[in-house]
Amino acid sequence: MRKKTFKGGVHPPARKELTAKSPIAAMPLPEEVVLPLSQHLGAPAKPLVQPNDRVKTGQKIAEAGGFVSVPLHSTISGTVKEIGEFPHPTLGLSLGIKIEGDGEDEWDEGIMERANYSGLNPEELREIIKEAGIAGMGGAAFPTHVKLSPPQEKPIDTFILNGAECEPFLTADQRLMLENGEGILEGMKLIMKALGCKKGFIGIECNKPEAIKNLQRLSSAYGYEVVPLKVKYPQGGEKQLIKAITGREVPLGGLPMDVGCVVHNVGTAYAVYEAVAKGKPLIERVVTVTGTIVKNPKNLRTRIGTTFAQLIEECGGTTEKVGKLINGGPMMGIAVETDQVPVIKGTSGVLVLSQKEVSYSQPRPCIYCGRCVDICPMGLMPNVIGNLAEKERFTETKDYGVLDCIECGSCSYVCPAKRNLVHLFKYAKAKLAQMKGS
Ligand code: SF4
Ligand code: SF4
Repeated sequence: MRKKTFKGGVHPPARKELTAKSPIAAMPLPEEVVLPLSQHLGAPAKPLVQPNDRVKTGQKIAEAGGFVSVPLHSTISGTVKEIGEFPHPTLGLSLGIKIEGDGEDEWDEGIMERANYSGLNPEELREIIKEAGIAGMGGAAFPTHVKLSPPQEKPIDTFILNGAECEPFLTADQRLMLENGEGILEGMKLIMKALGCKKGFIGIECNKPEAIKNLQRLSSAYGYEVVPLKVKYPQGGEKQLIKAITGREVPLGGLPMDVGCVVHNVGTAYAVYEAVAKGKPLIERVVTVTGTIVKNPKNLRTRIGTTFAQLIEECGGTTEKVGKLINGGPMMGIAVETDQVPVIKGTSGVLVLSQKEVSYSQPRPCIYCGRCVDICPMGLMPNVIGNLAEKERFTETKDYGVLDCIECGSCSYVCPAKRNLVHLFKYAKAKLAQMKGS
């Protein structure tokens, strides 16, 4: 049978064998955590605590900074040491709360299971999900309650659970689907109730046959359809997933809700289940710690705020000098300057590359080979946009659709001139946002 997919895309080496068979292990409780106030897209959270305050695990320590924002909770019990600027995995430096642990892991008394959660109405579900601080756990970290609040004129008839995990090296979602399938499907049921939508699909790439089998077995009781997808990057992009599963095309400049769809990652569905059924705010997540020079690559259930250095140490360290450290995978991940950055809600992986693996070849001028145009999953002309961004002709990059670029990195991956196209697109987008605000 022909596997479902989308037009364009690339086939980078998957490298998932390093951790695919590693069951999720619990990372020891960190002695201290740094919790950035910017853990998600939208407005940063606003602190509710001060230095020297005593806090418990799961206690709310910062409130949402607006509608497109979520609260933040302490991930250990202890004492607030400092509110100040700390290294951040995507923003360089940013404001955060440092908590020194007491080693007790004493939980906030307000956290308790809800026996009758199936009786909650959509409004109550959205409020619980917001108050639990849940933001998309596939990497984008968009506040989940916002995606569950579409305007009335955009009814949602289809929900897609994203289990594609197309990013090379990462296996956190794969392990979660194998080990916590029941919780994921319960979370999916709650999300669909909040959206008032009846049709549910689960998209998984074919290189995860055991995950497909497990969710097929469990989902028959719910009436959801598991759709095996062709292995191709970026199969897990929202628009690519919608096209592959429903055949619907999200218009350029549009959102999934424009075609009646909402997509959430499997990790987000599991966090929703934990928040609604167990009353647990988002204080931990599964992180794949991987790379050919990591001694024992693992999938670790980790408290948010644990540093990358601690995760690598838990994996036995590295066999040689680190060339590059990446928050996420090799295609969409972001290189970090220091291993002292903390895991945040969107950290799906920590990838350690050797010095040999890091390509230092200098970018050269475009040779107009057209490869980037052939593979762009959004149907853009990356070569033209890149040249315009280089010449600082930002308004024209917009005319050529730079705002529709999903920053998947496929064009940079195939470019024989080693042009750093994604970097140019991010630069153009930032400049356009500045121009709009001025
Ligand atoms: S232009 Fe954007 S969407 Fe297209 S391949 Fe490049 S990074 Fe991906
Ligand atoms: S792949 Fe690179 S060299 Fe070829 S057209 Fe695109 S930008 Fe130019």
